[in-house]
Parts: sequence; C-alpha cells; structure tokens
Amino acid sequence: MIARPSPEAQIEDLSGVGPKSGPLFRELGVATPQALLEYLPFRYEDLRFPTPAADLGKSGGEENAVGRVVAVKERRARGLEIVEVHLVDDAGARFTAKWIGRNRYVYGRFREGMRLFVRGRIERNFSGPIVAVAHYEQLEESGDYRGDLQPVYPASKDLPTRKIAAVIRKNFSRLLGFAPLDAIPPSVAVSRGYAPLRESYRAVHLPEDPEEAARARERFVFAEFLIMATSAALRRLERERDHDARALRVPPDLLERFEGALPFELTGAQRRAIGEIWADMSRDVPTNRLLQGDVGSGKTLVAAAAVLLAASNGMQSALMAPTELLAWQHAEKLAPLLAPFGLGVETLFGSQSARARNAALAKLSTGEGALAVGTHALLTEGVEFDRLGLAIIDEQHRFGVEQRARLRAKALSPHTVHMTATPIPRTLAQSLYADLDLTIIDELPPGRTPIETFAVRGSRLPLVHEFIRKNVALGQQAYVVAPAIDESEDDATLTSAVAEAERLREEIFADLRVGLLHGRLPAREKDETMTRFVRGEIDVLVSTTVIEVGVDVANATIMVVLDAHRYGLAQLHQLRGRVGRGALRSYCILVYPDDASENGRLEILTRSTDGFLIADEDLRLRGPGQLAGTIQSGSSNLRFGDLLQDIDIYRGAKVVAERIVGSDPRLAQPEHAGLRAALAAEPSTRALLLSS
Ligand code: ADP
Ligand code: MG
Repeated sequence: MIARPSPEAQIEDLSGVGPKSGPLFRELGVATPQALLEYLPFRYEDLRFPTPAADLGKSGGEENAVGRVVAVKERRARGLEIVEVHLVDDAGARFTAKWIGRNRYVYGRFREGMRLFVRGRIERNFSGPIVAVAHYEQLEESGDYRGDLQPVYPASKDLPTRKIAAVIRKNFSRLLGFAPLDAIPPSVAVSRGYAPLRESYRAVHLPEDPEEAARARERFVFAEFLIMATSAALRRLERERDHDARALRVPPDLLERFEGALPFELTGAQRRAIGEIWADMSRDVPTNRLLQGDVGSGKTLVAAAAVLLAASNGMQSALMAPTELLAWQHAEKLAPLLAPFGLGVETLFGSQSARARNAALAKLSTGEGALAVGTHALLTEGVEFDRLGLAIIDEQHRFGVEQRARLRAKALSPHTVHMTATPIPRTLAQSLYADLDLTIIDELPPGRTPIETFAVRGSRLPLVHEFIRKNVALGQQAYVVAPAIDESEDDATLTSAVAEAERLREEIFADLRVGLLHGRLPAREKDETMTRFVRGEIDVLVSTTVIEVGVDVANATIMVVLDAHRYGLAQLHQLRGRVGRGALRSYCILVYPDDASENGRLEILTRSTDGFLIADEDLRLRGPGQLAGTIQSGSSNLRFGDLLQDIDIYRGAKVVAERIVGSDPRLAQPEHAGLRAALAAEPSTRALLLSS
C-alpha cells in the first residue's frame, strides 16, 4: 500500500527535476507532482513501425525509417551545416537522411555501418526518398528495432516534450500516488466502459497503442466536461431558486395589439420566440435566454415585444450594444415599433452632448422613458432607472461577464435576453451557453430577394470593378473586404485593406469616394467613417472584417470579399449579411486567387443562404476549433476537451450532470466526492457548492 503523499510535494522532489528544470516546469503551470500527472499529451508520435524505404513518402506526414549507413556526406555552406547520410534498410532499399542547419550534434557523428532510426517528412527526388530528419536515434548494431508511441506534451523552448516525457516515465509509479479523487462516479465510469483512473493515467502517458491512449483521453475529456456541466447545472439550479424577479402579467390581447401595429405579419418563428420570452418573463425566476437568429431574421421585433411586455407591467428596459453605431441603429428600428404604444426610446452614447444625455437620464430616473438604448455608457454611474425590469444584450460575446453583471446590478434581478446573429448549430449552442435557455429564429421573413452570390478568380477582378462602378453610378454602395490590415502582417500573401484602399483610390476608382475601415483605427474614426458610409458619403468602403456584425446600410448592394478562401463559411455568410438589407437586389462576390483550389467550398455559399446549414457545413468541412474565431466560446479554459470536436462526449456528460444535480444537489453522496472535490478546487464553482 502506497502512503498518500503529502500535498505539499514540489515538482523538484521528482527524480530528474532539479533547480534548473524545476522553474521551467513551473513556467508551464506544473508546480507539483500531481500537476505533472495531470499534464496530458495532446498527441503521439508513433515510432513503433519503420516504413520500408520503398514505401516512404506515401502518407504526406512524418514517417519512420530504419537502415544501415552506407555513406556520409557533410559540408558547410554559409554558416549552415548540411549532413546527408545514405542508408539501406533491411529489405535492401536505399534512402537518404538529411539534416540542414546548425547541426553541432550530428556533424561528424555518423560512420559507415551504423544502424540509425530516423523520423521526418519525406521529400522525393530521382535518387529516392529523403527524410528531412526531425528526430533520430542510433541503434544497436544488431537486433530488432523496437520503438514506442511517444507522447507529445505542450512544451517550451527550454523544456522540450522529450524531457517532460522522460521525467514522467522515470517517476511514473510515484506520480500515480498523487492521483486525485476520480471526478467520475464509479457507476458512471463503469457504464461508459472507462478503465480505472490510475490505469487511464498509465494509458495516456505510457500507451502501448494509439487506441488505448484515445480511450483514456476520452475519459479525461469526459471528466472535464462533467465538471463543467455540473457547475452549469448548479448555476441554473441556483437561478431557478431565486424567486426575486418580477413575474410579469401577459395581457391576453397583447400579441394581437402588437401585431396589429406592424405593417406585416410576424413569422411563425418570431411568434414562437416572443411566446418563449414572454413565458419566461411571466415567472418570478429571472429570465436568462439567448435569442439566436440569422442576420435579417427579425430579432429586433422580438426585442420590441419583450420591451412592450415589460412596459405594460410598468417596468423599464435597457438594450446594450457593442458599438455606438449598432446602438443607434437599434434605437432607430425600435422607436417606430414602440411609438404606437406611447413608449419612448432614450439613447445614451459616450459621444452625445451633455444636454441630450441629461434629458435622457431624467426620463430614465423618473420612469417616463420606457427603454434606454446605448453602449457601455449605460453602465456608468449616473445612469439610474426607476424600475428596470428587462435587460437586452446584443451580441453578448463582446461584453465581458463583468459588464453584463454591472448592467444587471442596475436592477434587483431583471429578466435578461441575449441576442446574437452568429448562427451556431443548436446542439453546439446548448453546450457553449450551458446555463442559458435557447431560442432560435430559424425562418427569414418572406419576400426577401435572395442575395446573388458568385465565386470568382482573382484574374477577373477588373470585371468586378466594372460591376461596382456600374452600381455606384446608379447611386448604390459597395463593401470591399480584405483579410489583413496592412502588409506588415505575418502573411504577405494576404491582401491588405490599407494597400487595397490606396490602389482603388489612386488607380481604379479615382473618381469615386473610397473609405477605409479597420480595427487599428481609433474608435472615433471608425464610427465616423461608418457614419459617413451610412449617410451615403462614401461609395466604396474598403474594410477588414470589423464590419462583420450588425450594421445596416440599405443602400449597400455589393459585398466583395478578397481572399475569400481564407475565411470560414460561417464568417463569409456573416459578411454577406451586410448587403441585402433593403429592397434593392444585392450581390456577394467571393474572390479567390487563381492558384487556390478552394472553389468547391465557396460553392456552398453560392447555393445556400441558410446560416444554420452553412454553420453545419463549416463545422463539417473545417473541423472543430476553427469556429473559434466566430464563436469565442468559454471553452478557452478547457484543458483537454474541445467542445466542438468532442460534442458527443459533452452531451453524455451533460445528461449525467443533470441527473446528479437533480438527485444530489449538494454532491453529498460518497460516490460524488470526487466531483465535489473538483468543483471545490475552483473558486468560481466553490461558491455554488456552499449555496446549494
Ligand atoms: P435582425 O436584427 O435579426 O438582423 P431585423 O429585426 O433588423 O433583423 O429585421 C430585418 C428586416 O426585416 C427589417 O427591415 C424588418 O422590418 C423586416 N422584418 C422583420 N420581421 C418581418 C416580418 N415578419 N415580415 C416582413 N418583414 C419583417
Ligand atoms: Mg438587428
């Protein structure tokens, strides 16, 4: 029986870790033996099987080869050392191993007759396969090669993955003594077919084969998701227990009156969304709902209906948007929807005059103003409401948790609705926003002219320019989106917005008004440029993706995206949503370089305008992780799992978490001790346990 080691053990206590490497481990966040045990590899290098030299180069990735040295060629050129070793493998086939660089350690080291293991990418030329060596080992002169599956750990320059692996291997049985309690209840581990915890640590750190390592990894991902889903379930439970929101009464004829004041009928999806939000708001539990709908799906109307319900119960509302321009557009759209009910909209911006601000503040503090629309300015101290009952937050991911909390703090416990125009497949959204209820508007209002979308090669840009010129002559406007701000950026092959604006201004559209917008401009200048575009004082707006979310310019009818092959489909769909905002026929032109082989993917956009379908395709094609740019999930603090890639594991964990919280909300049962310990270790979740 191993005595339970003291929790104060330090990383330096391990064999092979000294005063020099200890701090390097600490830099990677590994300060204790337990942390090292829990430090998992993110992939493996399979060194088990050498490829016969005759077959090298077929996989496209790194490959292994074993052979006997028959000749060594070495030279120095311009500070570089080039070492070429010719080998024959056991089947008698020839191959070459090549090192280029400052090879202090290999230069002069090889002799004829030595047996070597080499691993690297394969190049082929007329003389046969060449291994660009990333790793090699000198083998015993006789005997079989026996390689293993090498774990690759997150490493640093001074603490390479091989050193980490060596320390783990050397100390492994001791490390196992530091295993934490298992967060997965024993019955759950059994029903999911997981090996015992210690055995799983062995299988990830010292795997015999990739399948075993993958099964063990799943166990750790599941445990991580279980902790996350349990904390979401506890948060939800806590919220449900707070009966401190105002339960609003829904007048029976309210929907009819609301619709009666509109120039059109609500779509089925809008009616459903309003029903769900009103039902939430009629409970004394604070609403916490995410309203997700594609651009143009009519979320504004749904927001107006929520404001109307609050107002008919004598409560005020606040809508917060990430930029002034967006806030201003919301106010413009909401005012006519609310005016028939005698409800006024107050705006609060950083840039407005003191006089306008004071007038708005007065109306809010007396309760006369039914709705405040603004930016972060809504959060400042002088802003007081008489009876704030509803907070609407647009594009919630742009606000930090703290800012959201500050808005909510302006009322005791307001109902909260988050709005987003980023389509995320439902299953994903349910995981990413685990403690929000979800409403999806999956239907566009009828009678919209679909945006015509084309994918064209870069050599056809002159035609695109001609097309823009023709439409500008008709009084319309165009966006031209480029992926980089300026040429100093990492990737010189990307078109830069600054250079493109200059080129258009000077060479192509010298007679037109060309504007430039990108993220490094001061906020004031961005707002100013956008405002000029809205007013029609700019014909062609060259921009990076900063225009992505939410701005409506009905007169803008052309969206040109340069280097379209560099974007995800979902992001291109978002960009396309910037046009087609009015009655005019609109176009989206996706330009990709002549030598890029990307058009199959872009074709999806030319065929579909369904944001959810496109998001699904994007996920399927680009694989997980790539959506990160569009979603910015809370998954950044996940260590092992990837919510997108491991969505099925997450779903399983969520079901288990809800069952556990339902039956044992304090996690007091012995079989939940490990889960409880894991939650108690995190300050953010510890509080949930105490309050349960
Ligand atoms: P979102 O905010 O979801 O992008 P908006 O609320 O701005 O969409 O609505 C986009 C446009 O569609 C607006 O011009 C709006 O007046 C119009 N619209 C909204 N709902 C309907 C409907 N049910 N029928 C017809 N047009 C609608
Ligand atoms: Mg909108």
